[in-house]
Amino acid sequence: MQQTIKKNVIIFGVGVHLGKPVRVNIKPAPADHGIVFKRLDVDDDKSLIKANFKNILFGELCTTLTNDKGVSVKTVEHLLAAFSGLGISNALVEIDNEEIPILDGSAIKFVNPLVKAGICKQNSPLDLCSVKKTIEVKNKNGWVKFEPSSDLKLTVEIDYPNTCIGKQKFSLKVTEDTFQRELCDNRTFCLKKDIEDMRERGYALGGSLDNAIVVDGFTIKNQKGLRRKDEFVRHKMLDALGDLSLSGLPLLGHYISFCGGHRLNNQLIIKLFSDKSNYENVMAGNDNPHKFVNKNFTSSDQNYSAAI
Ligand SMILES: [Zn+2]
Repeated sequence: MQQTIKKNVIIFGVGVHLGKPVRVNIKPAPADHGIVFKRLDVDDDKSLIKANFKNILFGELCTTLTNDKGVSVKTVEHLLAAFSGLGISNALVEIDNEEIPILDGSAIKFVNPLVKAGICKQNSPLDLCSVKKTIEVKNKNGWVKFEPSSDLKLTVEIDYPNTCIGKQKFSLKVTEDTFQRELCDNRTFCLKKDIEDMRERGYALGGSLDNAIVVDGFTIKNQKGLRRKDEFVRHKMLDALGDLSLSGLPLLGHYISFCGGHRLNNQLIIKLFSDKSNYENVMAGNDNPHKFVNKNFTSSDQNYSAAI
């Protein structure tokens, strides 16, 4: 069944890239609503941005969504991973600025208050999307792909030579339990040598040792060190889970990545839905899964306005 939260969750923080303070109010939402962002600092008629691959705005270093009025919301991936990992299908996320707060750099500070608020089943079945073919996208550094699978599995490998990160590989079958136990508290990271360049380009303005692991060669600059030895690759997996949730429906498939990132993830999900033979929509708990009309729609659709 679809799920939402029992009561509002309010979170304050700073956006990692823009460095601006932001208040987030996550509200319960009705069945078939999906995850929708609402910018409170713009006019009402252009304030809604649905968490869907159709609204991806290609950029760097984070995942950004935009609506057809050009209003966007940045760095959505960790909050989306929290919704996906906890099985929350419907929520309205009100924000008074344009970037979701980074908090401690992981998803744990979204997960804990959402769990505390309570997650409740709704009176509507949850539709799923099953990957039917192997599809892949690559760039000069790495690749990401989907293979058919009866569960959502993630396998992520990274390689940062000449640093304490090195080569790391991690695989996980994603359930609410494994997400909370293995994934949600792994923090984002960067190389110290990249910080100046990022800041010159207007990124990482809110970044600090409180919200990111900073790696300087074979040294970790954060006083308390790592939460896990392979925290880096696990964070990449957390990012992927958030990015893949832009499918709009829970996925059944095996995601595999080598030196992937947000842009490749975004391209993979768009490629998945670009050809109807790549996937099949099925209804959960149905022994004879049947196809149904894909409910992915953009913020400009009439159905969508009615749903809000
Ligand atoms: Zn991240």
